Parts: sequence; structure tokens; C-alpha cells
Amino acid sequence: MTDMGRAVLDRIIERTEQLALRPASHPLPPEATSELVESFLAPPPARGGDLKALLERLDDAADCALESAGPGSLAYIPGSGLFSSALAEFYNRATNRYGGVAMAAPVLAALEESVIRWIAEDVCGLPAGSGGLLTSGGSMAAFSATVAARHDRLGEDLATGTVYTTAFAHHSVAKAARLAGIRAAHVRLVPHTPDLRMDAAAAAEAIRADRAAGLRPFLLVATAGTTDTGTVDPLPELADLARREDLWFHIDAAYGGFFRLTARGRERLAGFEHADSITLDPHKTLFMPFGTGALVVRDIEVLHAAHGGTGNYLQDVNDGGSVPDSAHLGPELTHEIRGLRAWLPLHLHGTDAFRESLDEKLDLAEHAHAVLSAIPELEVPAHPDLSTVIFRIRPADGTRAAADRADEASRRLLERINAHRRIVLSSTVVEGRHTLRVCIVSHRTHRDRIDEALEIIATETAGVASGE
Ligand SMILES: *Cc1c(COP(=O)(O)O)cnc(C)c1O
Repeated sequence: MTDMGRAVLDRIIERTEQLALRPASHPLPPEATSELVESFLAPPPARGGDLKALLERLDDAADCALESAGPGSLAYIPGSGLFSSALAEFYNRATNRYGGVAMAAPVLAALEESVIRWIAEDVCGLPAGSGGLLTSGGSMAAFSATVAARHDRLGEDLATGTVYTTAFAHHSVAKAARLAGIRAAHVRLVPHTPDLRMDAAAAAEAIRADRAAGLRPFLLVATAGTTDTGTVDPLPELADLARREDLWFHIDAAYGGFFRLTARGRERLAGFEHADSITLDPHKTLFMPFGTGALVVRDIEVLHAAHGGTGNYLQDVNDGGSVPDSAHLGPELTHEIRGLRAWLPLHLHGTDAFRESLDEKLDLAEHAHAVLSAIPELEVPAHPDLSTVIFRIRPADGTRAAADRADEASRRLLERINAHRRIVLSSTVVEGRHTLRVCIVSHRTHRDRIDEALEIIATETAGVASGE
């Protein structure tokens, strides 16, 4: 065991030390990638192999990837993977305690509950009686939130239930509604104001019109940090609207939620206190490994009512006392003690370490916004609410043809930037325009890499503009 453990640990430490030097994206040509893919599709052998040889194969597999743990990871919403969290998870997997019901490991269940209470009460400002569930990610959190809202507000008659969100909502919102049995045509995309936030007056109008037409509006989903632009919807106004109209108010803060640890974040994300449920993703802005999401709800009883279930084979399972059984708060029964991978880093580093790192990301985004705004060939349409900065090639004039040419140039710009392999950016569509985004979330991304990124962007913008 010692030799095996050491072999794995040595490799991981070496890889982690090399992260800043490693290419930010796939260093292999496509043929070599296909060969590796083919070789890994093979079934397992009847007789076992050698650990060192297998680890070497694993390294090849892990190398052929976006370097999502490294400082150049600025595409999508990066998840950086804390080393201390990985160690916690090794301990977790090796002890293999059962995380479905509290009775099976009551103290570890309390450990997990402490993480959930911290998120619900300290981070989100929900009152006593709140609680929640650690999920595998934001999509599962959205699913359980939608099921709870549906159960609480619609009962079993789903046919006329309607949901309100915006075009900037993550696709998991519509997917959760579909999985929860809500008609696709009953997911309303409320118009947004020019600053890309949900238009609360338009939402009120849509709810009134639907109600007049005999539908049953039951769920309002705001986004606190959209995936495209990091924009925060007007939460206090929308909370008021939901209360007035008796809708369940869900905030999708998968990306933005943990910025509430910072003073600026708490200001920009005011209104969480009024939510019925909130999604947060520790695997994004708490730097945990992938597979770590969270759902917190104002009233834990409602989540329980929507997800509780039992069977004869569970008759020996007593109530866990003060700590709820996670199996009755979501779709999964058997799962690991998910809280451990958050508990160890939070206790080892302290919450200040996370706050300082998130503050640094807000500073880096301000800096990137200022530098990009000064490049005349670029259009930088929004000031960042959080740590995402968007930009695109500025069209020569206001015609559609010029916008199309600028979109094409933005596409080329992204390719040229990513070809450096020092950073990876991604693109999206904002107001019909091809738009590049820099999303700064990794705990390993600091000023040096952002300055390098900005230099690459400036150089390649000049290149695209001069038609080189
Ligand atoms: C990432 C994200 C999600 C989806 O979360 P997963 O963890 O990828 O399932 C939902 N909403 C927003 C705003 C996100 O950024």
C-alpha cells in the first residue's frame, strides 16, 4: 500500500508543480489523440498489470486534455481542483463511509451538515430552518430545486405550471424543468434590460398574462452570475416580485454564489436572503474537484417532502437525529460523504484564504476590463459584475455586413489566442454577436498569467485587424 500510494502521490506532486509550465490545451496532434482514445476503449485484461506502467498510461490520458487545473484555464467556468480537497477525497474513498443516511456515519454526516449550514446561513444569509444537499453539480441542484418548487406549488397537476427565467439562464434551468415534468413551452424567457439583466417589469407582465390565460406560474429563476457574462439579475426586485405573485424564488448562483465571501460580492449579490432555494457550485468558485455542487433551501422540510422515500429493506435505519438523511433530500441514495472534500480544505486553509483568493479574481477581472477597454479594435460591452470579462472585434460601422465581418474576425481571434497554448478562452453569443470571454476563477491564476493573457490578446487583435 505504501509503495502504491507513494507512486501515485509522487506523480501528482510532480504534475502539480509543473502546472504553470504545462500547455493550457491538448498538446497532441489529432491522430495521436485518436490512437490514445482507441487504446483506452479496450476492455480490461483477465490478468492484472503493473501499477507504474498503468500510471504512465494514465498520465498520457490526462495530458491529452484542457489543462483545467492550471493558471491558464480561462474558458467556460474553470474548476481548478484544490490539492487538499483531493487528499480529503482519498481519505474519504479509502474509508468508504456511507453518505446516504446519517445513522450509518452520524459524525461524518454532521461534518457534511456543517458545510451545508455554513453555505446556507453564513454564505447565503438564509434563516434557521434552512438546509440543503451537496450534489454532484449545479445541474443536479437545479433539478432538485425545481422538483421541490413543483411539489410545493403545483402538487401533482403539472400541465399548466410555468417557469420564468431569461435567455442568459444556464441551459440546466430548462433541462431541470423538462426533467421535472414541466412543458418546454411553459419555460418563459423574460426579456432583459440593455445591461443584460432580467427585466423585472417584463417578468411581472408575463406572469400576469399567463395567469389571465389560465396557467399557473410557480417558479422564478434568477441568475447570480450568468455563464456568458457573469451578470447578476436584480435579485431584490425579483424577490419582491416572487413574493407578491406567490412564486418560488430560485437563484442560480452556481458560478457567482461564493463571491459573497468578499465585501464586493456581498454588495453585488444582495438578495440571497430572500430566496427559496439557491444553487452554488463549490467545484467552481470554491476550487473543489469536479463533482461538488450544492443546493440550499429556505425550508428544509419542503425539500424533504419532495424527495423523501423509503423501503422495507430500510426498516433498520433509524432517524439520524439532528442531522438529516441526505438520501431524503435528493434523488440519490448511496453516495460518498460528499462534504469531506469541502470540510478539510475549509478547516485547513480557513475561510479567509477563500475570500482573499476570490477578491483577487475580482481585481484581476477589473484589471483585464481596463486593459481590454483601451484596445481600440475591441468592443468591451459590459463592466464585469464578477470575474468574467467579455470582448469582441469592433465592427467598422453599424451595418449588418460589418457586424458579420466582425464576428468572423472574432472567431479568428479566438483561434489565434488559444494557439499560444498559454491560456484557453471560450466564446459565446451575446445580443446576437460572437463574443469572447475571459473567466477568471482558478485559485492558481494570478496577475502574471493575466498580464500574459492580455499581451497575447493585444498582439493577436492587432494581427487580426491588420489582416496578417
Ligand atoms: C456551471 C453552471 C451551471 C451548471 O452546473 P454544473 O455543475 O456544470 O452542472 C448552472 N448554472 C450556472 C450559472 C453555471 O455557471
